Amino acid sequence: MLHSAAMNNSVGTMPKSPSLKDFRRIVVKVGSSLLVDSSAGGLKREWLASLAADVAALHKDGRDVLVVSSGAIALGRAVLRLPPGSLKLEDSQAAAAVGQIALARAWAEALGAHALTAGQVLVTLGDTEERRRYLNARSTIAKLLEWRSVPVINENDTVATTEIRYGDNDRLAARVATMTSADLLVLLSDVDGLYDKPPGVGSDARLVPVVARITPDIEAMAGASGSELARGGMLTKIEAGKIATTAGTHMVIASGRVQHPLEKIGKGAACTWFLTPANPVTSRKKWIAGSLEPRGALIIDAGAVKALRGGKSLLPAGVIKVEGGFGRGDAVLVRGPDGHEIGRGLVAYDADDADKIKGRSSADVLLILGYTGRTEMIHRDDLVLGGE
Ligand code: GLU
Repeated sequence: MLHSAAMNNSVGTMPKSPSLKDFRRIVVKVGSSLLVDSSAGGLKREWLASLAADVAALHKDGRDVLVVSSGAIALGRAVLRLPPGSLKLEDSQAAAAVGQIALARAWAEALGAHALTAGQVLVTLGDTEERRRYLNARSTIAKLLEWRSVPVINENDTVATTEIRYGDNDRLAARVATMTSADLLVLLSDVDGLYDKPPGVGSDARLVPVVARITPDIEAMAGASGSELARGGMLTKIEAGKIATTAGTHMVIASGRVQHPLEKIGKGAACTWFLTPANPVTSRKKWIAGSLEPRGALIIDAGAVKALRGGKSLLPAGVIKVEGGFGRGDAVLVRGPDGHEIGRGLVAYDADDADKIKGRSSADVLLILGYTGRTEMIHRDDLVLGGE
């Protein structure tokens, strides 16, 4: 069998079938062919509505969801009725200008149907690769997430030139995932995953369910299975996998040619999981412990100290006092009733809201704040205790 020796090292099994709800921050990349029907010349609204419903369900469960949506050029082509065939750079840039407006509107409407606010973010390669611009783009996206909006991101194709553009949204989505410390990147495409040899009529190609590590053999499989799709094909998806998994983000390639594609992944649809060698919880904890400036403090009662030491999350009920002017997602110190530092963590509420719900049961949060936030003030995975 092809690559069998190497597969033992690089292909593994998941310890359990992961549900998307196991992840806190999820980037969903949507390919052009899923959204735009080039023959019928328009947007696949019904499919988009089914995806938006899945996004809304995860969002309602307290997950942060970001969308990286392709389709500007394809949609622009359709709106302008451009003839088939490849486009010159200036043609595709102008087509993207027309298509992006329609794309952004479609997302705003589809998410709006679930009372979600979409925020359009158009980035160029420089925005993710140059530190100052990277920090700027990252903080804009962080603000959108803090406001519980859904960032809808694409490359700014209208101004990106050949030399300085991503050209494919797989790698862009991987950069967005690492930039925002997402723990999962979902690539929805017209294939349902990585095959061990070219799939097709008469082929005995098998879908690889789990890739524990991206090795040259895995890259060889990608080259063989998707050579005709080169850009945006399996090779760029593997490149995206390298970017994501190196930074502690899991990735899954799954078919978007079904209604409710995210829900289907959660129900065990055929797909390929790329596991990160870095445990995202461990890498996030290292990051929390090591590199963040605490923006405030939560003083907690003795019962909460005990619960935290027993491995529990910090609930609003255990908080006695809130100090500082932090925002949602900022690092804060956690202090015991005597002021002694117990640990630090990423807080799920901003300082004003944290103050309003301190000492209250999680069930009261909706009544007090008027929205359902996280049950935990600081989730266990976002908390590092002294000595941990
Ligand atoms: N940014 C391109 C667009 O919106 C898509 C790139 C890709 O297909 O990956 O048309």
